Formats: sequence, structure tokens, C-alpha cells
Amino acid sequence: MAVPGWAALAYLVSGVLFILALRGLSSPTSSRRGNRFGMIGMLIAIATTLILHGTGLVEIAIAIAIGGGIGFVVARRIAMTAMPQLVAAFHSLVGLAAVLVAAAAYLNPAAFGIVDVATGEILRVSRIEMGLGIAIGAITFSGSVIAFLKLNGNMSGKPIMLPGRHVINLGTLAAILGLVAYFLTDQSPWVFWTVTGLSFVIGFLLIIPIGGADMPVVVSMLNSYSGWAAAAMGFTLHNTAMIVTGALVGSSGAILSYIMCKAMNRSFISVIAGGFGAEAASSGGGEKVDRPWKRGSAEDAAFLMKQAEQVIIVPGYGMAVAQAQHALREMADQLKAEGVKVKYAIHPVAGRMPGHMNVLLAEANVPYDEVFELEDINSEFAQTDVAFVIGANDVTNPAAKTDKSSPIYGMPVLDVEKAKTVLFVKRSMGGVGYAGVDNDVFYMDNTMMLLADAKKMVEDIVKAMAH
Ligand code: NDP
Repeated sequence: MAVPGWAALAYLVSGVLFILALRGLSSPTSSRRGNRFGMIGMLIAIATTLILHGTGLVEIAIAIAIGGGIGFVVARRIAMTAMPQLVAAFHSLVGLAAVLVAAAAYLNPAAFGIVDVATGEILRVSRIEMGLGIAIGAITFSGSVIAFLKLNGNMSGKPIMLPGRHVINLGTLAAILGLVAYFLTDQSPWVFWTVTGLSFVIGFLLIIPIGGADMPVVVSMLNSYSGWAAAAMGFTLHNTAMIVTGALVGSSGAILSYIMCKAMNRSFISVIAGGFGAEAASSGGGEKVDRPWKRGSAEDAAFLMKQAEQVIIVPGYGMAVAQAQHALREMADQLKAEGVKVKYAIHPVAGRMPGHMNVLLAEANVPYDEVFELEDINSEFAQTDVAFVIGANDVTNPAAKTDKSSPIYGMPVLDVEKAKTVLFVKRSMGGVGYAGVDNDVFYMDNTMMLLADAKKMVEDIVKAMAH
């Protein structure tokens, strides 16, 4: 099916707008503009597709209204902290859509214009697209469903290890690739449906061995897979915009996974192969024992910070739960008014999604030049008077540097313990972070625990500073 020139041009324009969107999203200062480019690009792509389609517009409008309505309600109601599972759920839908498109094309090839007139069979090139589309789509679907169940707490976050899993995984992957190649010579239903079934199984097998602390990388990897699945759909549907968009999502997701692997000190190859980091995560580490610790009050914290030359704030998941970012900015403003230098240290996997802390701080209008990435600020803790850890835990845990049995061993962490004083805000001594392990920083001589809800504690500190 040849696409008319005007439509090809429109798709090209939307592709360029998507590229500009990604470029804009790479910095907080230009991200709004980037989002706008993306929205306009998508509008052009959808309008072009609808005009090209011509028929069945009522059904499409009804489907868009139902899907859009559900999406609207879900997006309004979702808590920021539940974003990773929402993203995983959305990825599963992209995967499922790719499977359904490939299945529709297989069952009714004439409607997709992919029949070879000479033989009456499905065009060979379309069979490759279809085989790959169904495989990537099914892997994305079942992998994302498992990621959703783990992140949402419906399934244990602990790695589930099957005996001989590497052999099973490799064997299944080889069988899928072999059958996709065989599909070129034989388009029998058993080949098509076996590829589909095996791909669902491998998606499941790849994600179940992945344990708690490694989930961020998995979410971004599934993001990448969903992009490739969409690109495969684009080939089947002869839709250039979809191919370009899918490739952009696929490659940017892959780059993000790579960056996150580096941040977590995990091997990129083993992420793609599945079950990475599982050996380390399987052994416990960080046993909870009764050890002495010091408790401080909002007044103590206010006094210590006002005396400081520099305070580094380390936000984490708990800050997001408590929505303490606005109060935190107020506290920083007061400190700056007292002549104290304030900086924010952001760990790449702090919170529950990539960029989680940056988004929250931007929402509270924290100046970008006060926000630093781990590698740019880590050396400064040693010369800092106060590290103010608010709702972060795993990203400050020194066990990652020393304890080989810890599930987070090998992940670079913020060296908060090197500051003269560490103020640690969390609700109780019993609560643990995402990886479920104790943190030695709580029990250090230079640490003062500020036990309360993060927002309440910061508001109390702000009040105490005013006195
Ligand atoms: P953690 O999950 O390690 O710790 C959160 C801390 O916040 C806990 O100590 C908890 O203790 C405290 N807390 C929770 N609610 C509140 C509240 N209302 N007020 C005050 N404190 C609160 O968070 P980090 O940000 O340090 O680490 C992120 C973890 O999440 C890493 O292990 C990372 O791998 C994982 N992860 C990251 C993703 C990402 O993309 N960024 C995605 C998925 C997982 P208490 O209960 O006692 O209050």
C-alpha cells in the first residue's frame, strides 16, 4: 500500500517533531517545549492516519473515547509513587497491541495488502516483520505484566530462580528465532502460534528472576522493548510515523537502560539476557539488630543547619510519598537567607522512577543550578557540615560499597556518612527502603534520626528556624 506524498510528508514532520521532543526532554529547562513538540507531532500523526484510513471512523472514535476516558481517569487518580507500575501496565498494552496487530495481519493478510499475488501467500518480508513483531510484542506483554505485579506488590519482589534457567531461557530464545526463520518457508498456523506462545513464556521467564533493587532497569528495558514492538507494528501497518516513533522509544529506552545499568553498576548484557543481579539479590544481607542510635527534634535540626556553612539535601522515595518538596524548598530558602549554602544531591535511582526527584523538585521551583547528579556532588559530602537525608534510604546505604551479600552491593551510593552531621528523616526505625535492608548510617555517631512524616518534620523545622 503506497502512502500518498502529502501523508509521507506529514509523517516525516511528526517524526522530526518527536526527535525535537526528545531533545527538549533532555533538560528540565526545555522539557515543557519538548512535551509540546511531542504533542503536536502525535496530533499530526493521528490526524494523518485517520484521513488516510477514511472508513470506520465512528468505530475508531468510539475506541479512542473509551481508551482515552480510561487513560484520563487513571492518570488523574494515580499517585506519583505508583508511576513505575502504571508505566509497566502501559507497556504491557503496547506489547499486546503489537501481538493483536500481527495476529490480525496473519489471519486477514489481504486487508493489510501483504499478499504475494504470484503465490497467494503472505509476502516474505511481511512474514519477517510479523514474526518479529509478535515475538517482541508478546515478550513485552508478559514481561510487563510480571513487572507490574512485582512493583504493585501483588507478587513477591524477591527473585524467583528456576533451576537451569539460563539453559531454559537460551533454548526458548533459540527456538523462537529458529521458528521465525522457518516461518519464511512455511506460514502454517502452528508456526505462528508456537512463536506467539513461546514469546509469552520467555517474557515471563526473563522477568521473574529479577529482584527488588534491580527493577528500575527492568522498567526502562521494557520501555525499550515496547518501542521496538511499536516499530514492528508500524511495518505491518505501513505507517512510517509509527516506525519512527517506535524506533525512537526503543533506542532512547535502550540508552536509558544503559545509563541506569552504569548507575547501578550492573552489566547491560545480562540485563537484556534477564535474571541479572539475581545472584547478589538472592542472599539477604543487612540483618536487623538492636543497636544504639540518636533521636533528634525539629529544633535540633534547625539549630544545626542554621550553624552550617553548607547543607546537602538528599531526597528519596519518602519525600515523594509525603509530598514534602514544597516545604523543603521553603526550608532551603530560609537557610539561604541565613547565608547557608544549599545543594540537592540526586541519585539516579532515587524514588521509584527515573527522574522522579528532579520532577518533584522542579514542581517546587527549586533552582536547577542547586540540583546535582551523584558523580558531580559525591566528593563534596566530606567537606559538608550537614547531609539532610529526607525519605531516602537505599541510595545512601554504605553496605552497597562493602557488603557483598547485600542486594544493593555494587550500586554507587551517596556518601552521606562522610558529612560532619547526618540528619536522617524517616517515619520509624523499623521501616526499610525498597531493597528491604537495614542501613548502618542510622547508628553512626554523627547521625541524628528525625523520626516523623517527611512533610511534617520539614514544616516543624521551618517553624523552629523562624524562632
Ligand atoms: P528507599 O525506598 O530506599 O527508602 C525510602 C525511605 O523513605 C524509607 O527509609 C522509608 O522509611 C522512608 N519513608 C517512606 N515514607 C515516608 C514518609 N511519609 N515520610 C518520611 N519518610 C518516609 O528510597 P530511595 O529513594 O533511597 O531508593 C530508591 C529505591 O527504589 C532503590 O532501591 C531503587 O533501586 C528502587 N527503585 C527505583 C526506581 C527508579 O526508577 N528510581 C524504580 C523502582 C525501584 P519509613 O518507612 O521508616 O518512613
